[in-house]
Amino acid sequence: MDSRQDVEFYGGILIPGMSDCHSHIEYSYVKGMIPRGGGLPEFIRSIIKIKYENATPDEEKLAAALKWSRKLHADGVVAVGDHNNNDYVYPVKQEGGIFWRTFVELFDVDGQSDDETFLDGLKRAEHHRTLSLPASVIPHACYTMTDGLMALTGGSAKAHCGASADGIVSIHYKESVELGGEKERERVLATLGENRDGVLLVHCIYANEGDIDCMIEKFGDKLTVVPCPLSNIYIENKLADIDMLRRKGVRIAIGTDSLSSNDTLSMIEEMKCLQKHLPHLPLEEILGWATINGAEALGITDFAGSFEVGKRPGIVQLENVDLKQMKLTDSSTSRRIV
Ligand SMILES: [Zn+2]
Repeated sequence: MDSRQDVEFYGGILIPGMSDCHSHIEYSYVKGMIPRGGGLPEFIRSIIKIKYENATPDEEKLAAALKWSRKLHADGVVAVGDHNNNDYVYPVKQEGGIFWRTFVELFDVDGQSDDETFLDGLKRAEHHRTLSLPASVIPHACYTMTDGLMALTGGSAKAHCGASADGIVSIHYKESVELGGEKERERVLATLGENRDGVLLVHCIYANEGDIDCMIEKFGDKLTVVPCPLSNIYIENKLADIDMLRRKGVRIAIGTDSLSSNDTLSMIEEMKCLQKHLPHLPLEEILGWATINGAEALGITDFAGSFEVGKRPGIVQLENVDLKQMKLTDSSTSRRIV
């Protein structure tokens, strides 16, 4: 009997399952509603208008989120760091197949004190945990927070009603010249506590060497920078200074952001975008950002990110890769095998 009859053969490259380190899966229903290239201030105005005026029922919003989370799964994503504002996405995270680390995102709410907003966030994070979904309270961004709310959600404020923000923190950082301003670095350094298990700085489109030096000094190897290439181009038509980040040696991971600022949710399309704009980037390095670096950023290296004995990282096949040049091509795809 031929012992190879049960062996399956695959072409291309096999990699461990990927981690998408920045997502807002709840905004999947917003696909195509916001025009590209308007800049962040215009984008925020549009998303607020949609949030409060769009009449899409929650069931349809959930259906869109389920459809796209299943695509992420089929494409080989095993973990997602997801910012959360709305309860209707719970079933997406309870479906299984993907590890969701939820970041309960807080920002100033009209007519509500910082303490009330923070307590609401703590309750939402606790509710996630009762559903066995890991969650932490985090600040949305400097430009949507008072100093008091930043300190509470960043974890640097004293324990509030017996609780303080803990776990991994993820914050939008330096994603706009107009909204960011000079004080953004100072405020993040002053309000994100060293007690957090990890620090994800998302986007960093306008982060400079000084920003990254200070962040490395404060957070050390807890720090991860998370560019969302296709979204960054969609909104600001600009990528983070990737080569500077590489020179600094900071951990880089990748996010897909959301369908409000992206035409798809696909880690391989994000990698193609990086390769297109930075053709000198070795494919092996980009794949490391999508796999082991993402797993480190989300605190899940015990089971994900690399092929090692004792882990169950998933197996993903990359097809239509130029193996001579070791480059992704326009037709490269990813497919989950395990
Ligand atoms: Zn975001």
